[in-house]
Amino acid sequence: MIFVIKYFFNNKKRRLKIIIPIRCFSCGKLIAHAYKPYLEYLERGESSEKAYEELGIKRFCCKRMIVAHVDLIDDLLKFPRLQ
Ligand SMILES: [Zn+2]
Repeated sequence: MIFVIKYFFNNKKRRLKIIIPIRCFSCGKLIAHAYKPYLEYLERGESSEKAYEELGIKRFCCKRMIVAHVDLIDDLLKFPRLQ
């Protein structure tokens, strides 16, 4: 299932198609909205610890969800849907 998330980052409205799980598997905290900002922090050269702190992700289980995610949506969209 593809989720479309609308969010604001640096006062800009953004739209995102993702397949990252919406909630942490272990504790249930919402983590999907933090994935793209996390990547943007890393692109700016900031450390992942600082990105987690800014995004409010404190537990190890939630950090695992973001670090371990492999974004395959673009690869999966190449294949036709089964009817
Ligand atoms: Zn968690």
